[in-house]
Amino acid sequence: MRWDNLTEGTTDAALFGADSVTTRTFDTPEFRGVTFHEIRARSIVNRVPGASRMPFEWTVNPYRGCTHACVYCFARKTHSYLDLDTGLGFDSQIVVKVNAPELLRRRLADRRWHGEHIAMGTNVDCYQRAEGRYRLMPGIIAALRDHANPFSILTKGTLILRDLDLLREAAAVTEVGISVSVGFTDQALWRTVEPGTPSPQRRLDVVRTLTEHGIGCGVLMAPVIPYLGDSPAALRSTVRAIAESGATSVTPLVLHLRPGAREWFMAWLSEHHPHLVRRYERLYAGGAYAPTWYQRRITGQVHELAEEFGIGPGTRGGARRISRTPEPAPASGRDDAPTQLTLL
Ligand code: SF4
Repeated sequence: MRWDNLTEGTTDAALFGADSVTTRTFDTPEFRGVTFHEIRARSIVNRVPGASRMPFEWTVNPYRGCTHACVYCFARKTHSYLDLDTGLGFDSQIVVKVNAPELLRRRLADRRWHGEHIAMGTNVDCYQRAEGRYRLMPGIIAALRDHANPFSILTKGTLILRDLDLLREAAAVTEVGISVSVGFTDQALWRTVEPGTPSPQRRLDVVRTLTEHGIGCGVLMAPVIPYLGDSPAALRSTVRAIAESGATSVTPLVLHLRPGAREWFMAWLSEHHPHLVRRYERLYAGGAYAPTWYQRRITGQVHELAEEFGIGPGTRGGARRISRTPEPAPASGRDDAPTQLTLL
């Protein structure tokens, strides 16, 4: 493994040396087949390359790889920088930066740090199952709270509710933006394409609980999967469920298939929906993104539904809104990428 390559695609120097890696496995049903590579990172706050197109410049990612195992995840590519497999290896070889909280606290206290917004969940999910064991996020949120440093989190993990009290304390002193990803509500599709994640319904319960506790939560409706999750009925039931959860916003985003994710997704498609392979090849013939006409169609439909179901300006006291999906832009990281993250 090329540990010296673990730089998140940032301007930071290599994060740690090979001598600082401890490899562990846990013989519990939850972690069977998963290998954890515990490392002491050299840095944890990363500058986003090409930040001008993004709503933030700094990220914190305590993990690499993700047991949520979404077939379409484009963070898969980043595993190849470590000479790790981007398919099953991405789902089961998890790098854990065990000193993330202390590194962050040190950085926030540095005189050269000016309290910029920090985004989390932008590469892989910081509330994936590993977080239940390693508990890095409480220390991270506590550091941000203590320095009143604004931050945002994007997740599919219900584990975020464990840290509800900390999030509330942070929200009392700084800007906190939470978004949950729910691209569809179809159970059969969820089980095969996002096999390691909590169900869409449980994720929407997270939105509901956060909202009930005074923490506004948006939904990144991502990815909308062509021909599998994009029928008028599917879009309708998804947006209705999002509205019923009390989400403060909905941001639709069509599936994109960048190298690393594309091969893995197309293999999955061949196995589960072989009749769609040709249609996908045509739809994504131009590269990683579906054509603009398709994206606009989906976005328009979702916005109309969001207005109908009451997610939008002027509804229910005007506090909720639809977020316009930015034009697709190349970005490193996960499928529900920072360019699309709505900061509330
Ligand atoms: S899309 Fe998000 S939740 Fe799914 S595997 Fe990638 S990082 Fe994990």
